[in-house]
Amino acid sequence: MFMKSLTNVQETMFINGKERAGNQTAKIYNPARKTECVGEITIGTIEDVNYAVDAAEKAWKSWKNTTPEDRAHYLNKTIQHVNENLDDLARLLVMEHGKTLNEAKGDLLGGVNVLRYYSSLVDEVKREKLIENEQGKWIMTRQPMGVVSIIVPWNYPIILAFLMLAPAIMAGNTVVIKPATYCPLTLTKILKYLGNLLPDGVLNVVPGSGSVVGDAMVRHPRVRKVSFTGSTEVGVSVIKNSADTIKNVSMELGGNDAAVILKDADINQRMIDEMIKGVFTAAGQICYNIKRIYVHRDHYKKFSEGFLEAASIIKVGNGLNKESTMGPINNKPQYESVKKIIEKLAETKADVYTVGEFIEEGNLSDGYYIMPTVVLNANQKDPIVQEEQFGPVIPIIPFESEDEVIELVNDTEFGLGNSVWTNDSEHGFEVARKLQSGSVFINIHRAGASGPNMPFGGFKQSGIGRGHGIGALHEQMELQTIILRTDM
Ligand code: NAP
Ligand code: MG
Repeated sequence: MFMKSLTNVQETMFINGKERAGNQTAKIYNPARKTECVGEITIGTIEDVNYAVDAAEKAWKSWKNTTPEDRAHYLNKTIQHVNENLDDLARLLVMEHGKTLNEAKGDLLGGVNVLRYYSSLVDEVKREKLIENEQGKWIMTRQPMGVVSIIVPWNYPIILAFLMLAPAIMAGNTVVIKPATYCPLTLTKILKYLGNLLPDGVLNVVPGSGSVVGDAMVRHPRVRKVSFTGSTEVGVSVIKNSADTIKNVSMELGGNDAAVILKDADINQRMIDEMIKGVFTAAGQICYNIKRIYVHRDHYKKFSEGFLEAASIIKVGNGLNKESTMGPINNKPQYESVKKIIEKLAETKADVYTVGEFIEEGNLSDGYYIMPTVVLNANQKDPIVQEEQFGPVIPIIPFESEDEVIELVNDTEFGLGNSVWTNDSEHGFEVARKLQSGSVFINIHRAGASGPNMPFGGFKQSGIGRGHGIGALHEQMELQTIILRTDM
């Protein structure tokens, strides 16, 4: 067993190839049993960030000259390591996050897929474009950027960290990375494995709070780029604070994804089961979970009844309990934010159904549990429709015409993902082009439906740039044009 014990896990910072202790630590509690301490992690300071950036800058001088084949090798070793320790890592992730064991494995194996995909892009890192004509000859090439700060959210910490880290490493950058306050242990363990393989200083891990460590990583003048995944609200301050030193930013932010069930759709069990996954996976805590469902009036009754029935058999409990199909919310602020959205429903005309079965012996309040909540006859202006709930609460809204629903879907500052449900996929593609979001799914909408090779990101306030795909690699590199004029 790679971990000596899954209780009282201790993690530290990792800077310049070495573990680094600090004066301050934070205890991590299990969201399924609020009093159970899962482990402890060192909390970094501004000085630690400065030390990490110095180490990363020094390491970059030689790291930038390594071949992409060399870089891919480190990622491949990490794939092997995660696969070999999958069960232990998944259990630890459940205990610090709350999600079910299957969801935790999905996060880890999703991360492995990301590493595999980016390690395969060796030719893309080297690709150059040569243009020769009567003006002369020029080459367009891509160069590494330098030190990159990577800031990770708590909801899917492994895959989201690797979506930013793998292209950065393949590009020849060096990294300072901050795991989230609420779910740092499993990620830090994996990052330290990779960091130990890599030359000293290439990968530096500084856990700590966003307002201290994250802020310093964003402001440091010798950090060239910030890759951030998290809320739109924090994204705004990250963009502002990186502006003083003209940093390049990639931002994967919040979403308020809609699923649109068109008149020509067939309401069947497969569709309803897919919708349930799209809404309730990870208790609703995925940036591109379905957060509002628009149903054509003709199907409203049949769909709502089917959906309510399917949501009623969700088993809510500790993620380590094999019977659980949905775990608790990850942390207290998020729990309170979802609770507040549910409370505000009392001020609307919507019909609220609290469903599902709680399968643990104790009380709901022993953990940050929220039961699946289905909101029928919600109105476009209700907070549950307008805001990102990021929890297991879903509004179902009727519509009359396609033009109307396209307006309703686009009536938001978010633009991460949407889905169209139809029996006519060609028609689905047509409607999809009219929806303002970085991804539009047809007859599916859930974690995993967007692969590492498929560009992913937000329109409007859901982000800047595209994670996943070759674009994310290009976002970690500077385009350089080398020009020889023969006509002057
Ligand atoms: P968050 O509160 O924005 O935090 C994200 C990260 O930013 C955390 O590591 C946080 O540190 C750090 N941070 C906080 N303040 C900072 C500051 N002033 N400067 C620099 N860093 C700072 O988001 P979250 O609650 O962890 O995650 C949920 C949100 O992420 C949702 O809105 C969700 O939609 C979005 N999300 C988007 C995607 C996507 O791909 N588009 C994917 C997943 C999640 P602390 O941990 O200390 O707060
Ligand atoms: Mg909403």
